[in-house]
Amino acid sequence: MLQECETLMLDMDGTLLDLAYDNYMWLEVVPAAYATRHELPEGLAREQLYAHMNALRGQLDWYCLDHWSERFDLDIADLHRSENHRIGYLPGAEQFLQQVASSNMRVLLVTNSHRTTLDIKHEVTGVADFFDAIYTSHDVGQPKEDQAFWQDLMRQENFDPARTVFVDDNLHVLESAGLFGLANLVAVAQPDTREPARSIDSYQSVERVSQMVSADA
Ligand SMILES: [Mg+2]
Repeated sequence: MLQECETLMLDMDGTLLDLAYDNYMWLEVVPAAYATRHELPEGLAREQLYAHMNALRGQLDWYCLDHWSERFDLDIADLHRSENHRIGYLPGAEQFLQQVASSNMRVLLVTNSHRTTLDIKHEVTGVADFFDAIYTSHDVGQPKEDQAFWQDLMRQENFDPARTVFVDDNLHVLESAGLFGLANLVAVAQPDTREPARSIDSYQSVERVSQMVSADA
């Protein structure tokens, strides 16, 4: 899968780091804090919270910690810090990063994650150390779902789409990358270790990134 690869672009959450953490934060911790803060029963708190969130799904603000902290009147970064012991790599992902970081490929982190969350996750895992460069959609000002993100990345990296491999667990993001012209797309079928692997028809897929190197061996 990586033989002809010159540039390897990797998503973070659900590709390298276990999405179980983010799902726990957004399904448990944030709704509970919101219920307490606004003195609401938890069911109603969830309803309000997800109504706001679903309206912005896939947009830059959906991924923005500052936006939700302000909207919900909560210090979400602080909630992340209080749960940071739950942050972790997906099985085999750290070894995979060690292997690709010592190869000749240019390895890029390409993420919709907010810088603050990225920093908190890096403090726990050291994930940022494995990359030649890091691109976040908040720095670019567009999410990966938007063509403008890829146009900007191309301006900065001048990569060869035919010799680039991009790995992500979000199928909408893969679709956007494909539309831009990236040919070698890989979907991660099991982004959350607490959930079963999804069956993915539209892209070549791996359960975990470590299979990308063992498939070459
Ligand atoms: Mg992801």
